[in-house]
Amino acid sequence: MPSDSKFSRSIELSKKNMVAVSLTSLSKEEFTNFIDSFDTVLTDCDGVLWLGNTVILGSPNVIIQLQEMGKRVFYVTNNSSKTRDEIVSKCSRLGYPATRDNILSTAYLTACYLQDIVFKKKVYVVGSKGITQELDAAGIKHLDVGPDPMCSDVASLLRNEVQLDKDVGAVVVGFDEHFSFPKMVKAATYLKQPNCIFIGTNTDEILPTEFPLTVPGTGTFVRAMETCTNRKAFKIGKPSPYVCEAIIKRHKVDPKKTLMIGDRCNTDILFGTRCGFKTLLVLTGVTTLGEVHQLEKSSNKEDQELVPDYYIDRLGDMLPLIS
Ligand SMILES: [Mg+2]
Repeated sequence: MPSDSKFSRSIELSKKNMVAVSLTSLSKEEFTNFIDSFDTVLTDCDGVLWLGNTVILGSPNVIIQLQEMGKRVFYVTNNSSKTRDEIVSKCSRLGYPATRDNILSTAYLTACYLQDIVFKKKVYVVGSKGITQELDAAGIKHLDVGPDPMCSDVASLLRNEVQLDKDVGAVVVGFDEHFSFPKMVKAATYLKQPNCIFIGTNTDEILPTEFPLTVPGTGTFVRAMETCTNRKAFKIGKPSPYVCEAIIKRHKVDPKKTLMIGDRCNTDILFGTRCGFKTLLVLTGVTTLGEVHQLEKSSNKEDQELVPDYYIDRLGDMLPLIS
C-alpha cells in the first residue's frame, strides 16, 4: 500500500492530467512545443470546419497553415451521407485543401470493411446514396436506397407490402432522412438471421447544424435497430477503433505524433484517447466547456477518457498563435 501522502499526491497528479488545457493560455514556448509534438492532424468536419453548409470562419486558414508547416491533414468524418468525392467538393467550396486520399468517411470505411472481410452477398442499406455509391466503387452489391414510406397500416404492411431479398447478407445503418417503419421491419427481419452482418456507420446522437433545432443523428437509427433486433451493430466511425486500424493500415501514422481535433467528446475525443493521439476540442460544435468541466470532476474512468488534452473556443483562434 502506498503511504497516505504518496497516495494523495498520485490522485492529485492523475486529477491534474484530467484537466483540459486552454490552448490560448499556453506561453509562446509551450505552444511551440505543442505544435512540434505532432506531424499528423486528423480533423473532424461538422462542428470543426463547418456547420451544415456554412464555413466556420478562420478554420480554413488554420488547416492551410498546418499543411504549410508540413503537417499531414486527414479529414475524418462520421457523416455517412456523402461520398469522398462529395466531401472533396465541399472542402474545396469552403476553402479546405483536400483530395480523395485524405478523406476518411464512414460511407467509404464501411465499403473498406466489407471488402476486408471479402463480403460477397447483397447489402440492405438504411441510409443514403453516399453509402451505396461507395459500395458501388468497391464492387459490393446492394439494394436501392430512398423513400420507403408507410402506405397504409401495420396489418396491411405485414400482409402484403414487405418484400425481402434472399441474397441479403448484411444490413448497414447510416444517416437516413427517409428512415421509416417499413425499413425497420425489413432490416430487423434480415437481422433475424444470426449470420447476417449488422453494421452501424456511427453512433452520433444528434447532428450539429446552423439551425436552432435538434436534429437526430445516425446513432438514433442504429440504436432503434439494436433495440428491435436485440443485437449490437459493428460500429465503423469514431470512437470505434476500426477507423484507427484503417488509418494505420492505409497511411503511415504514428499515434504518438498525431493530433485529433473534434467538437464532440463522446466520439472525437474518446476516439483520440483510445488511439493514443493528442486531443484538441473546439467549442464550435456539440460539446460545451461546461460539459468538459463536469467530465473533469468525474471520478468515473470512462468519463476521464472523454476529457480532451486541450481546448480552444474556435479553431481559427489558433491562427494568431501559429503565424
Ligand atoms: Mg463533429
